Amino acid sequence: MIEFDNVTKRYADGTVAVDDLSIEAPQGKITVLVGPSGCGKTTSLRMVNRSIEATSGRILVDGRDVQSVRAVELRRGIGYVIQQGGLFPHQTVLDNIMTVPHLLGWSKKKSRERAHELLQRVGLPSSFARRYPAQLSGGQQQRVGVARALAADPPIMLMDEPFSAIDPIVRAGLQDEFLRLQEELGKTIVFVTHDIDEAIKLGDYVAVLRVGGRLAQLAPPAELLAQ
Ligand code: ADP
Ligand code: ADP
Repeated sequence: MIEFDNVTKRYADGTVAVDDLSIEAPQGKITVLVGPSGCGKTTSLRMVNRSIEATSGRILVDGRDVQSVRAVELRRGIGYVIQQGGLFPHQTVLDNIMTVPHLLGWSKKKSRERAHELLQRVGLPSSFARRYPAQLSGGQQQRVGVARALAADPPIMLMDEPFSAIDPIVRAGLQDEFLRLQEELGKTIVFVTHDIDEAIKLGDYVAVLRVGGRLAQLAPPAELLAQ
């Protein structure tokens, strides 16, 4: 479980990106942060893996304050997916997926097997392993991004607008596949989007943020609609 406990982030120039945010993202569920551009979604996500430090308040991952855990150790348990996959353009798909296993010191053979297994899991043929990101469509790059984030089987996934750059028809298919994969894997997911329809479709819980970084509501999608 991930807990935001009265978290505020004020950037050096005085911008308050996140204002006294308290939310819980339960184990094995998808919690969506939704709201307009600039409402602090990315900032919130990046405080979880300590890419950004909170100004005040605490973020707990499985009961531990992230500030008390070494960043390397923390990130080992957290997969991170961003728009357009965030792939390294000069590395093949295989090498992109193998980055994390490699860092963890797995053997080349084990990393390669894991990469092929992950390609299959995200619905790409093995032959794609040798391609470069530019040789893939946007949707395919996004699948590779998900495969890469899953490589070390982290219990937590942070996903920042992973499907936003994809055309609507492909996006709907990716969302469906993502839900099927999550059904099987049961990760604890924090998913960021500016698209309320996507939030309602994917979220077990939806946190609606306002510009200024304040929480407007937090509820399961059905209750959100009822309000
Ligand atoms: P979102 O992901 O919802 O679009 P962000 O978390 O990226 O929002 O940004 C929240 C607010 O913080 C915005 O007003 C943005 O301009 C501001 N912001 C983001 N990064 C910085 C930074 N490094 N320095 C100052 N302000 C920033
Ligand atoms: P999508 O609808 O999945 O975003 P695109 O319309 O971009 O796909 O591409 C359609 C197909 O063409 C994809 O299945 C992909 O394999 C192939 N493709 C796209 N770009 C390239 C490329 N630069 N090199 C080789 N194959 C490509």
